[in-house]
Amino acid sequence: MVTAEPLPYTALQHGTWMDEKGFKRTCIKEKGKGGGIYQPVYGTWAADFMLRQDAGRFMLGKYLSDKKIPWKQRRRLGMVVAGNTPSDSFLTKLCKMQLAGYQLCRIARGARNETRGIDSLAAETHGHINSAGCKGMATIVTAAHHSIWRHLYDSMHATQKPKSKLKFVTLDKVSNTSTLWRREEFLRICRKEELAEKAQDIEVTIPVKKSHEARCNFDPGSFSENRYWGRRPDGVAINEALQIVYILKFKRSTDRDEGFPEVKEAKANEQHKSIIGALKATFPKWRFEQINFVVDKRGSVVESDSYTKLKKLDVQEGKKDKLFADHVTQVCEAHNRVIVSFLQQVQGGAMLTTEGSREKP
Ligand SMILES: [Zn+2]
Repeated sequence: MVTAEPLPYTALQHGTWMDEKGFKRTCIKEKGKGGGIYQPVYGTWAADFMLRQDAGRFMLGKYLSDKKIPWKQRRRLGMVVAGNTPSDSFLTKLCKMQLAGYQLCRIARGARNETRGIDSLAAETHGHINSAGCKGMATIVTAAHHSIWRHLYDSMHATQKPKSKLKFVTLDKVSNTSTLWRREEFLRICRKEELAEKAQDIEVTIPVKKSHEARCNFDPGSFSENRYWGRRPDGVAINEALQIVYILKFKRSTDRDEGFPEVKEAKANEQHKSIIGALKATFPKWRFEQINFVVDKRGSVVESDSYTKLKKLDVQEGKKDKLFADHVTQVCEAHNRVIVSFLQQVQGGAMLTTEGSREKP
């Protein structure tokens, strides 16, 4: 399966060739040495993706073969797993086309009368059209994030152990650190002012986004204060009896490379390090912890990691399998909505049918 010749030899030398995990580790290490870490371990990225263990592949397989789900919907997901969506970007990779598309960002830029050239536009790859960085897709991508997370948050809430004292705080669109501290349970931990000093200490160490530089330079003190109170967790759960607060974060990612959850987790922790850090520094008796839920956009979710987190949040043991399955389905359906929106926009309201001809959606 692995094409580079020296790899099996090294695996033999290290005695890792009979053990899949060990073999893969050897391959990754050897590829790293050769500077080729950005190559797939098994001949293609699609094979890497499908062969990876503990990533909910059985759920993805179930979804793809579920006859109750419209064929076109399953086909769209299958094509993404195979790595050939969007087709312009795929054809460019195969050198059959000169440029991957960049229509949506270009249209958005035109609408703003921007004059920069097309060479500064990002290509319409699967990663790009699934990110808020694509100006034509930002709204639908954000909606996909919110809908999956809302479903998971509500499901965890609904399947909590009856005796659990952990309370899921209902957040709304305007919830941020500041509005949390208008709630009784948080005011019982401390007054807002008590947190401010430590928050400031950490905020000043966090880099400022380019687009915020002018505001920060104008008044650095109030900039970092406002940034702290404006931070928005995706969810919060509090157990006053045991003095625990969980700050929850949800991320859609892409798991082309092994280790995608760790990379995204590190990013999510960095985003909220001032919330957690200030709380910890001010109230050493309480436990403050950030829990990140990371999913791959194409419907792969690491089972073991999810189950550890569901347990922490007091989800009933007997209900976790159903909750996990429904969650993966939500991820697949949200992804489908993203792809449909993309096709509708680039094809001007016409979509490819399974036969390859065009039809009105
Ligand atoms: Zn774009």
